[in-house]
Order: sequence, then structure tokens, then C-alpha cells
Amino acid sequence: MAFLRNVFRASLVASAAALAGCATTQGPEEGEGGSGAVPAAESADAPAAAVPAPAAAAAVSQPANAPAPASQPTNAPAALPAPKPKPWKCDYSAGRTLAKLDGVSVYLAKPAVSDWKRKSVSPAPLDAKLTVAPLVSARSTPLVSGRPMRVCLDPGHGGTDSGAVSKDGKTAEKTVALDIAKRVAKKLRADGFEVLLTRTDDETALELSERVEKSYRWRADAFVSIHLNSESRTGARGIETYAFPAMGMESTAHAGKATVESKTKFHGNGHDVGNVQLAYCIQRRLVRAAGTKTEDRGFRRARWIVLRDARAPATLVECGFVSSPSDLAWLRTESGRETVARGIYEGICDFAFGTMAPGLPARTPPPARPAAPARTAQPAAAAQPAAPSAAGASSMERVSAPPPERPLDKDPSVRAAREAALRAAGLLPAESGKPASGNGK
Ligand SMILES: [Zn+2]
Repeated sequence: MAFLRNVFRASLVASAAALAGCATTQGPEEGEGGSGAVPAAESADAPAAAVPAPAAAAAVSQPANAPAPASQPTNAPAALPAPKPKPWKCDYSAGRTLAKLDGVSVYLAKPAVSDWKRKSVSPAPLDAKLTVAPLVSARSTPLVSGRPMRVCLDPGHGGTDSGAVSKDGKTAEKTVALDIAKRVAKKLRADGFEVLLTRTDDETALELSERVEKSYRWRADAFVSIHLNSESRTGARGIETYAFPAMGMESTAHAGKATVESKTKFHGNGHDVGNVQLAYCIQRRLVRAAGTKTEDRGFRRARWIVLRDARAPATLVECGFVSSPSDLAWLRTESGRETVARGIYEGICDFAFGTMAPGLPARTPPPARPAAPARTAQPAAAAQPAAPSAAGASSMERVSAPPPERPLDKDPSVRAAREAALRAAGLLPAESGKPASGNGK
């Protein structure tokens, strides 16, 4: 029942309108060596539409009473009304794998399908259940309560492994990734999170398995691997964020090609819902923080080793292309790296606090308290749960704060619209009953 309640917190607008500029024309085009688990070449181009998209649009309209999101600093006066979430707006194009969820690019594993009777376009059942449902029916409560949330940040590469290097040899992925990770860590710690970095310097190269092992031994609640992209052509630019594919789901780097791995259950499949939520939240906030500085290359799926073996919700974010002159120029500036760090931090907060519904303002870290010592966690000592402390207690209050009230949930017309939208997306049976998807978390 909890899931069903959550379902109604989200609205799915299945728009059949062709998405100008949304048609997928390129795939992931991996040049990134994050894990080596995914081949360099792929064709994520959706097959040509077997069924043309109907001209009619969405059967479900957005509630008119959804307020515009207000930018609200943490020190805003208490008199300001609490921000209200907006319903989800999901746009699919028949025959295409590229969808837009709350305006953010999401690559589905299968092309979206047309339903002539309903005059709508819906994601394929597996995508509806395992990519769309975890977002539109996301919990609105904090991920953990009673203790600080633990985030493991993994700056890619390091030591002799430079990762991608700029054409002029002056900028290495490992250096930028570490700088961004440290900035994210600072913001998270100021907000009461406990943070572990898999590496804090450039002394040694870590094996991929070591990174996952560190996170696991420390009992992280979330794992975020930070990388930069590279490609032989200089035109590719933008941000992309990866989640591990669910069982039976192909990597977007393997669209249409069955692989043995898709039939196997890995540790990474233990958090299919959390993986999607964490990756999407980071992609959305990061893309919005970046604005026009770079492009939205979308939420994607790939069987990177660090995601495959992770035992907590995990994601790998590619913060831009070192092979792109514009991305590189941006990432070389301190303000550029700070912007990236802010986007990742905000995305982690959305995931942590259950503020995944559209229209909610980004969380901002409170000003750092000068006297507060940095909580540098040691992996070896962290195999046991952290002992309560003064700092932990203050974090607990923060993490276990009640979620904002969702008045939209009480509007019968909105509930009905959501229910109809979820049925259209195949997330609810034709009549009343339980949704096809499993428990949210
Ligand atoms: Zn990398």
C-alpha cells in the first residue's frame, strides 16, 4: 500500500507530441574507460518507428494549481510558503529511446510504443516499470533516518592512471575528478552527511574493485563515481549519468543486442530503484546547474564494474568531455568545477531527502560552522557503525526532518489524472489494483 500511495504522488503525462530536438540521433558513444565493461562502440539509435506517433497529445493534463518553483535560499524567512511539487511531465516519442522526464533526457532501454486507442505514446513495459516508475512514484521521505547518511564519492582514475587527457596534455581527468569530488564532499559535510572519498590524493591508482570494496566496508548508503568523458571527435560535449541496467534490460550502449550479462543478477541489481533515482537526480540538478555551459546527454544505463558490484545505490557521472574545447574550457575554471560540484551535491540531496518531485528548489548547504571538525571517515575503522556523536546528532535531525507536505496529493482530480496516466504507461492495471512495479524502497 505504501507504494500505491506513493504512486499517486506523481503524475505521468504521456505526451505523444513529437519532441522537437528530442529525437535521439546519437548513442552513448563511450570513449570513457570507467570500467571497461562496455564496448567503445554502440548503436543506441532507436530503430525507425514501427508505428508513427499519433498527432493527438496527452490524455492527461497537468493540474492547474501547480505553483511555479520558487528559489528559496536556506536562510529564507520562515514566513515564505513551503514550495509545492509539480506533477511529473514525461514525454516519449514513438520508436525512440530518448524520453524527457521533467525536461531531462532519459535513454530508455527500448523504443517507446504508440497506443492508437489511447492516442498516446508509452515506454515499453520494462522501462515503465524499472525506469519511469521509480521516478514518478519516488518516495518523498528521507532515505535514512536516525543517523547521518553516508555517501561514498569515487574520483575516477588516479596515480599512473590519468584517465582522459586533454589534447594539449595539460588537463587530466583524474585531477579534475578529484577536485570536483572534494568540492562535493565539502558541501555534503556542511549539510550533515558523512562522506568517504575512495582517494584523496594522486598517490596511488585504485583498482575498480578496491573502490567498490571501500564503499561496501564503510557501509555507504550511496556511491557516486565521478568521471570526465572523452571522444575522438571534438564535437561531443555534455553531461551524462549512468545507472546499472536492471535484469533483463540491455545497456543503452548495447541497444537491441542481447548480452549474457543482462540475464545475470549482480550486486548492482540489489538497488535497481535507488540506482535510477540517484542517477536521475544528479543528471537533472547537474544539467540545470550547468545551464548553457554544456549539454544534457541524458540518464543512461551501462554495466560499469563499479556499478555492477556496488552494494548501495550507485551512479557514475560523466561531468563533461575533456575532448571538447568548450567543455574543457569550462571545466578548467574554478567556477565551472564548483558548478559541477553543486549540481552533484544537489542531486544527492534530492535522492537523500526524497525531494525528487519536479518543481522543488534545490537544497543548498548551510554555511559551514567554523568550529566543526571535518568528519574524515576511515574505511578500516568504519566497518562498524559510527558511534553517536554531537555532530551526528545534529545530522540526524537534518536527515530525519519530516518531508514537506504534499497538498496536491489530496486533490481528487489530480489523483484521478495521475491514476489514468499511470495506467496509460502500463504502471497500473486497467482497473484498480496494485501497480506492476515492486516496492519503491
Ligand atoms: Zn573515467
